[in-house]
Amino acid sequence: MHTKIVLKYRMFTIVRHRYLLLVLTALLILMCIGCGEKVMPTPTPSPTPEQIFIEAETPAPEEIPTPLPPTQLKYIFLFIGDGMGYAQVQAASEALSAAGRNPLCFVDFPITGSAHTNNIDDEVTDSAAAATAIATGSKTVNEYLGLDEDGNRLTDISELLRNAGREIGILTTVSIDHATPGGFYAHVTSRRSYSMIADDLFASGFDFFAGGGFHDTPDAADLAAENGYALISSFEEAPAVTEDKLILSSTLIFGDYGVLPAIDGGERTDWLKKATDLAISRLTNPAGFFMMVEGGRIDYFCHYNDAGSFVAELLDFDEAVQSALDFYQTHPTETLIIVTADHETGNVSFTDGDRAALLRQTISSDECDDTLVAQCVSDQTPFQDALPLFLSAFGLSDLTDDETAYLAEAYTHTLKGDLSSSKANEEYGVYEPMTSACAKLVAARAGLVFGSGAHTGKDVPVYAIGVGSEFFAGSYENTYFHDAILQAIAAYPVS
Ligand SMILES: [Zn+2]
Repeated sequence: MHTKIVLKYRMFTIVRHRYLLLVLTALLILMCIGCGEKVMPTPTPSPTPEQIFIEAETPAPEEIPTPLPPTQLKYIFLFIGDGMGYAQVQAASEALSAAGRNPLCFVDFPITGSAHTNNIDDEVTDSAAAATAIATGSKTVNEYLGLDEDGNRLTDISELLRNAGREIGILTTVSIDHATPGGFYAHVTSRRSYSMIADDLFASGFDFFAGGGFHDTPDAADLAAENGYALISSFEEAPAVTEDKLILSSTLIFGDYGVLPAIDGGERTDWLKKATDLAISRLTNPAGFFMMVEGGRIDYFCHYNDAGSFVAELLDFDEAVQSALDFYQTHPTETLIIVTADHETGNVSFTDGDRAALLRQTISSDECDDTLVAQCVSDQTPFQDALPLFLSAFGLSDLTDDETAYLAEAYTHTLKGDLSSSKANEEYGVYEPMTSACAKLVAARAGLVFGSGAHTGKDVPVYAIGVGSEFFAGSYENTYFHDAILQAIAAYPVS
């Protein structure tokens, strides 16, 4: 055998190496088998319970975690999805799942609860009475902000916490003087007394406001300056602000009703998330902050039975919650996040359908009326030319003959300027028949049914994570939010 190797060494250098390797490998395998037979490992005795305990309690030096700061509730986020009932959350969740996208960030929070929303007369609430209940712990009548049913001034949670040294942020996608944000700083008998609400805002001394402008305060700039606020209209202006207190009054205004719809994209994309990030970056007092962040247009589009647009608002709201969740992950022993709603809107329920259809719509009904319909009416565009434009905007395809006939009839009414066939809720105005018909088709394809265009008395979901989140488990009245936040602060005081 050795002679052969020498011969091959001289004659075939490549084969030589392979041969040598084979021989050496075979020798090694034989040695290992032999060793395996000779050196059997002696059985290790089972550890005693004490040893298990000691090993579990004594991690290797490289595994010892950095000590966490003491648990104390410094940072509180209260997210309110206006009109966001269980069905709205389910619709968005199932649409994301059907489209293979990531779920809403808050639905898996470890604590869940359920809140009853009716007003003091056990009637279906409006946003004013609901915000007052959440903020003050007292139910009141519809339309009232920060007052009990007799008109007595109530103290809201933001005021209490500001007086205790925390910074306060109030953020919304609707106007800053709207009912839900107003519930956290205003004290008026009519949610529509916009200039009085604005007066309360400037007098509040709160540190941060963001939203889509004011309804009826043309002298907002003067009032801001008089009260020590920087008043800016875009995120780009924020770095240059020298004042401690800031109001972001966005110029991305839709009508007089807050920032533009999320579904219409453009500069509006991630607006609430950016506003939340800006608030987090500015509220740096060591005593902590309380921040109320409202997704204000979920309600609006449920009133109008525009399913694709309300889902887009809910996803936009979820992006803002994600910012808080990122903050929580860097301050896990100091942060509480609560996500809930003031009431349900639209009496939404479900049938079978393609939920992903809710994500294919790319235009709000408002924008459709203002652009697509306006252009088609102006040009008197024939139906066969207009149809592809509407189908593209609403993400619709493969129409049945009945669906085509339905849209053709709606389009005829639209060209004539005849709103009588619109199925939208008349209490809140109507869209053009073609717009309403397309929105209805999206909802029908998705298997989503609007039972009304109004608020309902359905309970709303609560999701909580972080320090003191255990106080938000269970079923309760909406007045309990105020009490539970104070209980959580008492349980985890800031040292
Ligand atoms: Zn509403």
